[in-house]
Amino acid sequence: MEPEIERESMEYDVVVVGAGPAGLACACKLKQLNSDLNVCVVEKGSEVGAHILSGAVLEPSALSELFPDWREQNAPLHTEVKEDQILLLKSEQSTQQIPGMFAPFTMHNKGNYIVSLGNFCRWLAEQAENLGVEIFPGFAASDLVFDETGAVKGIVTGDMGIAEDGSHKDSYMPGMELHARYTVFAEGCRGHLGKKLIAHFELDEGKEAQHYGIGLKELWKVPKEIHQPGLVVHTAGWPLNETQSQGGGFLYHLEDQQVAVGLIVDLSYSNPWLSPFDEFQRYKHQKDIKKHLEGGERIAYGARAINKGGIQAQPRMFFPGGLLIGDNAGTLNFAKIKGSHTAMKSGMVAAEVIAKNIQADNAPQTLSEFESAYKASWAWKELYQQRNFGPAQHRWGNILGSAYAFIDLNLFRGALPWTLSDPVADHEKLKPAESTEAPNYPKPDGKLSFDKLSSVFISNTNHEEDQPSHLRLTDPAIPLNDNLEKFAEPAQRYCPAGVYEIIENEDGNKRFQINAQNCVHCKTCDIKDPAQNITWLCPEGGGGPNYPNM
Ligand SMILES: Cc1cc2nc3c(=O)[nH]c(=O)nc-3n(C[C@H](O)[C@H](O)[C@H](O)COP(=O)(O)OP(=O)(O)OC[C@H]3O[C@@H](n4cnc5c(N)ncnc54)[C@H](O)[C@@H]3O)c2cc1C
Ligand code: SF4
Repeated sequence: MEPEIERESMEYDVVVVGAGPAGLACACKLKQLNSDLNVCVVEKGSEVGAHILSGAVLEPSALSELFPDWREQNAPLHTEVKEDQILLLKSEQSTQQIPGMFAPFTMHNKGNYIVSLGNFCRWLAEQAENLGVEIFPGFAASDLVFDETGAVKGIVTGDMGIAEDGSHKDSYMPGMELHARYTVFAEGCRGHLGKKLIAHFELDEGKEAQHYGIGLKELWKVPKEIHQPGLVVHTAGWPLNETQSQGGGFLYHLEDQQVAVGLIVDLSYSNPWLSPFDEFQRYKHQKDIKKHLEGGERIAYGARAINKGGIQAQPRMFFPGGLLIGDNAGTLNFAKIKGSHTAMKSGMVAAEVIAKNIQADNAPQTLSEFESAYKASWAWKELYQQRNFGPAQHRWGNILGSAYAFIDLNLFRGALPWTLSDPVADHEKLKPAESTEAPNYPKPDGKLSFDKLSSVFISNTNHEEDQPSHLRLTDPAIPLNDNLEKFAEPAQRYCPAGVYEIIENEDGNKRFQINAQNCVHCKTCDIKDPAQNITWLCPEGGGGPNYPNM
């Protein structure tokens, strides 16, 4: 039997897991409400922002509540939206512009800003530190700590220096226990501790299946002549319509001749041959997308999952000892393709409830009052209003679904007296490989489109190689039997970083190879594997992408 690891521990009033918009807004608000509170934030990225990937058009509502003087404090919101375009891409060569008045009002971006969410989080972290929050980048929360009553008492940071075979290297350092009166989990979409908490406390009882998309994004530096700072373009249709898949593209012109281009592929797709990465590469060849990129240079690449389930799929957010906030609980408004402002607001409401509880000197308890406080906030109201957007897209497709959304949102402001259901989970949607046709993906041209390896290279992803794989298979046989026979092992295609490969040995036998060091932490494998056989765990802290300003 392995000897029990002796761990040091530190005590806090509140431990926050994840330095994204939700976690940082929560930490700042806690200190604003009570500067005596001991608050710390752990972040698995090597620095704050290193793992943040978003569009991003930021709606500054929550920010203005948290820091009304954000302009004077030089928040990195430099590019106000000047123009919204909504395009229906009928094919590679054909586009129809949708007049703004016919689009769901949630797609209008007047008053919003085009930002790098990574840089925005770096700024938020500075504000948090100025308020006295302790931030520990490079420290992943790898497990939960429970007290004798079964309440969450904190987290364990990951051990460092464990070799692939489990032995301790010279650099071995056991993780620490961080104990808190309350622990707030703000890990973003499909957080691995969030997933554990949902299962442990059955937080999803009576809720619908959560739904997801994978968002692939590149940052380009484009020639001055074609740069239009403040332009926001959203697209539907090609190329996903060719496989009857859903999703949409975005293209945002931000400061310094930069253009963010991306494609969100709905993970409810049914064709196992589909490769979100290759769909994105050909997307950039569409005539009205490539004109924004030609002559430019690609400077960054990455991918991240995004929640789409809405309030029907939101788990209960409170449990003994803590709260689940932001995208970890699915607070994203998919009708706006925005989740930063609602994630921040959920964190701020969490802070108010926790600070009040500590102020009253109550013993740590289940913060059930969070639910009513959150439901009274504008964040929940806007999520309630858009609750039928995602299910309508799944039932009727992007075009008819958007027509329904127009009626529901623009004419009735979400007040229609029903809530559409969307019960089938994304991993259950794949059809057998033999009954579907593989899309024909053209070879990348090296100018607009690229291969996976050169893309992963510019995500600056790095993991210590000699460590246990952070991608665990419950049954190691499944990739080569069930998944291969039925679905031609889709992990080879849905992973945007080329982590999963089926390799044929010289003797003709096949093996399933996991190149864990390439992983960009998007969480798609944890979501889409048809057998739910892959579990994403935190690698050693600091490992993963190093996004400069995604
Ligand atoms: C392609 C794409 C485009 C988008 N476009 C927009 C947009 O235009 N506007 C908008 O408002 N929103 C947009 N979103 C959504 C937005 O990015 C999210 O809603 C928002 O980032 C959620 O904030 P969060 O704090 O909940 O989670 P995140 O931003 O995901 O932050 C979570 C943080 O926690 C860290 N973490 C996770 N697990 C651990 C752990 N166990 N230990 C330590 N640290 C951990 C992560 O490294 C990360 O830094 C987009 C998302 C995607 C993927
Ligand atoms: S291994 Fe999983 S989490 Fe990592 S990049 Fe691939 S799909 Fe995303």
